[in-house]
Amino acid sequence: MASTIPPPDPDRIEDAVLALLWLTSFSEGHGGFACRRAWKGHDWEALGRLHQKGLISDPVGKSKSIVFTDEGAARAGELFGKMFCGTLPAESPPKKRQPFAPSAIRLWEAIPELHREQILNNVFCGHCADMCRIEDFTGIKELGDLILRGFCGKCGNVVVRLIETAEEQSRG
Ligand SMILES: [Zn+2]
Repeated sequence: MASTIPPPDPDRIEDAVLALLWLTSFSEGHGGFACRRAWKGHDWEALGRLHQKGLISDPVGKSKSIVFTDEGAARAGELFGKMFCGTLPAESPPKKRQPFAPSAIRLWEAIPELHREQILNNVFCGHCADMCRIEDFTGIKELGDLILRGFCGKCGNVVVRLIETAEEQSRG
C-alpha cells in the first residue's frame, strides 16, 4: 500500500480550487444585489511568474491552455501528490523501512534485542483494554526518552509506548 500513490482527496481539491477562485475574485453590485464574483481562469500575474521561472509556456496568447516545461511538470505532479493524495504530512503514516528518527536510533539500539521484543509485544491498547503487539511503529526521542508510536496488532488502534532512558539504564 505504501508503494502506490493513493487517490486524490476530492475535498482537498475543492478547497484548493475555492481558494484560487478567491484569488481572482472581486465584489459586484450593491445592497441586496451585492455578490462576490471570480474569474474562472488563473491569476495572470501568478501565471506570468511561473513562466518567468521556466515552469510553463508563455501564458500570453490565444491558446486557452499552457504547456508545462519538464521541470514544471515534475514540480506540478509532486505538488499535486503532496497536497491532494494520501494523508497530510503532519499525519503521514509511519514508514516501515526507516521507523526511527536519527536521534532515536541510538536509544533503540541500546536496548537488548530480547527486551526490545518484550517491549513491542507489551504495549497497552486502550481499545482492546489489553497488552498488544505494536505494529508499523515509528520512534522519536523526546526529552531524552524514546517514544514509540504505532498501531495495535489486534485492532489497528493507535498505540503509544514511552520507554524511559532511565528505565533502560537501570536494567542494563
Ligand atoms: Zn487494540
